[in-house]
Amino acid sequence: MRKRRLSSLCEGGDGRLSVICHDQYMTTFDVLNPATEAIIASIKQSTVAETDAAIDAAARAFESWRHVAPADRARLLRRFADLVDQNLEQLAQIEVANAGHTIGNARWEAGNVRDVLEYYAAAPERNLGKQIPVAGGIDITFNEPLGVVGIIVPWNFPMPIAGWGFAPALAAGNTVVLKPAEITPMSALRLGELALEAGLPAGVLTIITGTGSEVGWRFVTNEKVAKVCFTGSTQVGKKIMAGAAEQVKRVTLELGGKSANIVFGDSDLELAAARAPYGVFDNAGQDCCARSRILVQRSVFDRFLELLEPAVKGFKVGDPASEDTEMGPLVSAAQLGVVRSFVPDEAPVAFQGSAPVGPGFWFPPTVLTPQSPSDRAVVEEIFGPVVVVLPFEDEADAIRLANDTVYGLSGSIWTSDVGRAIRVARAVDSGNLSVNSHSSVRYSTPFGGFKQSGIGRELGPDALLSFSDVKNVFIATE
Ligand code: NAP
Ligand code: MG
Repeated sequence: MRKRRLSSLCEGGDGRLSVICHDQYMTTFDVLNPATEAIIASIKQSTVAETDAAIDAAARAFESWRHVAPADRARLLRRFADLVDQNLEQLAQIEVANAGHTIGNARWEAGNVRDVLEYYAAAPERNLGKQIPVAGGIDITFNEPLGVVGIIVPWNFPMPIAGWGFAPALAAGNTVVLKPAEITPMSALRLGELALEAGLPAGVLTIITGTGSEVGWRFVTNEKVAKVCFTGSTQVGKKIMAGAAEQVKRVTLELGGKSANIVFGDSDLELAAARAPYGVFDNAGQDCCARSRILVQRSVFDRFLELLEPAVKGFKVGDPASEDTEMGPLVSAAQLGVVRSFVPDEAPVAFQGSAPVGPGFWFPPTVLTPQSPSDRAVVEEIFGPVVVVLPFEDEADAIRLANDTVYGLSGSIWTSDVGRAIRVARAVDSGNLSVNSHSSVRYSTPFGGFKQSGIGRELGPDALLSFSDVKNVFIATE
């Protein structure tokens, strides 16, 4: 952090990203390209007073936004979605440069923002209340917007996680202040510009950059913020929940995970082994849904590892801008340090893939076979390309091991027995399970965690309700 001239990222006519300087001096934070360690921009660190000013503006904007006719609010959100679509390639390139995401993933992520906006653009006109039969009059319910919603976004999926918060929040009639992670603010800043271009009034969606402890925490303590929607570490999530209790402030928390990929002996083992790397190494393992514990039935354990080895060694790690790259760098030197700490010299490494050397925060896909269930790599969320593989005996043992964690976000079950698939899916304490697949996220289905993986659900038909409170009104007719 230092005092310097403010600059920002922009796209030249040739599609390349470059830095422009603004004629202003303030405290800024250097944003790096994690694949090269080059500085791509210097971004303002907002103060608490500036955060309060943004919240005040959002509170003022709420007074008119809540009264915008449903069809007009819908139209503005659709226009926002169209602009995201028109700028999809630029948004994707920003994410490649700022977060080291592969270009294929980054395009999907920008497309996801568009889809989530389109999905919730249908909501203002369908935000239905109830009419409940009562004696002596009419009883009706309204889903009232909450007011200002504060959204705190982590660095692992800057675009989708922003969209999962702001799209339903705006559709429900709230205004939003959004803080991106300090190290990955660029795509959120661009989305904020596109919202204004689409015609959303100033103050309806405000992107405010700065640290979690100042800007983010102010969302928790400022009484004009009615709800905090937080995605990030379980440690900070607990702090936010405790802080929000002070004002009985609403929270949605999407926190960590240590999800199991359960491979039964009766599965298509070749397919399960071929897909397992994608279930954990996607986004360099920096995914709360990462299937970072592979549990394999003992009868096929050795065979599974034999099949997994070429899949891991063949995983393409390199320049995230290349079309065929499957994994880029970690997001930061700090995260690289965290990941390295899980693979000390004496670590039980079964095999590793490869990663570039030289500048950039690289770590190779790594498979560990720890002997003890209390090994740190088995218990803690690593948030990097490191997976543990453990044996289990039978269905009951698989369920016991899968649930032997404080987390419960996602998980996969590989089996050809449909009855077992359903039994195990019902028995694993986790919010998002997939059978013979690693998919967790669809904008039209609910997403969120059991246990210490979080509270509340994002996406899907019901997320709108988590951005409103139910009001009951009785009208006497007698
Ligand atoms: P983090 O500290 O939980 O950060 C997530 C977001 O919360 C960032 O925008 C951060 O701001 C902000 N924040 C931090 N402290 C805050 C506070 N006291 N009040 C309000 N907001 C606050 O996560 P991290 O330090 O980036 O990553 C640490 C670990 O968390 C990772 O290794 C991983 O295990 C886990 N993680 C999980 C997810 C997930 O999707 N579940 C995402 C990211 C990380 P700044 O960072 O800008 O200061
Ligand atoms: Mg942190």
